[in-house]
Amino acid sequence: MDPVRTSRSAPTDRYANDLGRLRPATVAFLGRPRDLLIDGAWVPAASGQRFEVRDPSSDQVLTRCAAGDAIDVDRAVAAARRAFEGEWSRVKPCERERLMHRLADLIEAHADELAELEALDNGKSVLMARHVDLKHAIEVWRYMAGWPTKLEGKTLPISGTLVPGHQYAAFSMLEPIGVVGAVIAWNFPLLLATWKCAPALAAGCTVVLKPAEETPLTALRLGELVMEAGFPKGVFNVVTGLGPTAGAALVAHPGVDKITFTGSTEVGRLVVQGAAHNMKKVTVELGGKSPAIVLEDANLDLAIPGAASAIFFNQGQVCCAGSRLYVARKLFDRVLEGVAEQARGLKLGPGLDAEAQVGPLVSSIQRDRVLRYIGLGLQRGARAVIGGHAVESSGYYVEPTVFTNVSADMEIVQEEIFGPVVVAQPFDDLEEIARTANDTIYGLAASIWSRDLNRVFQLAPKLRAGTVWVNCHNVLDPTMPFGGYKQSGWGRELGGESVRSYLESKSLCINVAG
Ligand code: NAD
Repeated sequence: MDPVRTSRSAPTDRYANDLGRLRPATVAFLGRPRDLLIDGAWVPAASGQRFEVRDPSSDQVLTRCAAGDAIDVDRAVAAARRAFEGEWSRVKPCERERLMHRLADLIEAHADELAELEALDNGKSVLMARHVDLKHAIEVWRYMAGWPTKLEGKTLPISGTLVPGHQYAAFSMLEPIGVVGAVIAWNFPLLLATWKCAPALAAGCTVVLKPAEETPLTALRLGELVMEAGFPKGVFNVVTGLGPTAGAALVAHPGVDKITFTGSTEVGRLVVQGAAHNMKKVTVELGGKSPAIVLEDANLDLAIPGAASAIFFNQGQVCCAGSRLYVARKLFDRVLEGVAEQARGLKLGPGLDAEAQVGPLVSSIQRDRVLRYIGLGLQRGARAVIGGHAVESSGYYVEPTVFTNVSADMEIVQEEIFGPVVVAQPFDDLEEIARTANDTIYGLAASIWSRDLNRVFQLAPKLRAGTVWVNCHNVLDPTMPFGGYKQSGWGRELGGESVRSYLESKSLCINVAG
């Protein structure tokens, strides 16, 4: 099949991507067979099976990727183990840094093409992909590239009193955990791959990456760039495939030392159970239902667009999206109307349309899930101030939606919708809002909008969330650890904390009298 030609014959839907405008590099990438990267070579799945990858703006098939399963995962893990114990273990820290910087340079050189692939595959705006996903991914590769030569152990002031008369010297050393299995979600495909793979490689681990089946394209392009950068074969492997087959096989594989997972809390539970078999180390970054809290002294010129972008950025498909909006009662009507106004002004369109501000959701399944939640909200008496419908299109669009008249027991208030849907409620005082904000199973993030630092410092410590933003939302940085309290996960991405999670600590104790 010629994926581009097939898609060119897409319906003349004004919300569908115009694939005639794709860069030649993107067309060439889509035209190559999309196989697995195992031991430095591109190979089809052992079963020969493939799965379709669709353009969310039009439902047209873009390409077909190898559907890896347990046999392919086994081959990839074996290759990662060989590399870990062999060539990669001999690569000096300064050389690891150099390889990672070279990869960052290659990603930067191909950033426009990668952004286009991401927009095509995920539905997000190509501008956002370039200025958020790619920019951040490059920064993270560079930040992580600085770590290999700084992974220092400690000299320990040992007393050694248990065996009198002896004298000891003791040290702690940091060593890479080993083979890492990385399973990721579809909302920020290259960025999430980077959050996992960059610190793992910096620590000296080897990796088998299983991207989401909805969005495997940039992980495959990353695999090409890793090989071009000169990493030894087997250090970085990519197995595309479905969650319950390829994903579950990687999670359960006895040859994997650590699983790092980003996805839903529901699948996260399965991952924790699957990893328990050989007691793998586990990091899980899961769902969220993050509150954006507007206090009565907030600067509304900042808070209203901020609250709108907290939920509508990336079509609301953001783990830390501000999907619950709480506003001091006296400001409630103004903020509600302001956020609805912002939603009304957003331009819908496909990822390749540089002017589009709201794109399609990633899949028909995701669209139907979001519409089911909207239906549930309406049934339970919530009022949609704006939105509440799918968009007439062959793509997977849902209107930005703002609900009011909601109560804490509603599904739309408690559960992660993962779409452009926000629930808005008024509150009266700080104690009440702290309790309400914490009243879900999640604890990923929160934002406070206020000019009063005293109130900010009263409220922030009460919020059970891994990140609290003040007068901003969805701000990420390579230096700033990101992760969840409660059922939003275990562990942290980014920062030194992330690198540390790919390292073991070994104590070395020497009897100096011996
Ligand atoms: P998902 O849990 O359905 O899938 C995530 C990944 O797990 C995919 O690669 C999938 O193939 C794989 N998978 C599915 N079943 C599996 C199984 N049985 N065993 C092993 N792997 C399996 O999540 P999704 O729908 O792709 O992503 C959306 C979710 O991700 C949301 O809940 C969102 O909040 C969360 N997320 C969290 C963060 C964070 O940092 N906390 C970041 C992005 C997304």
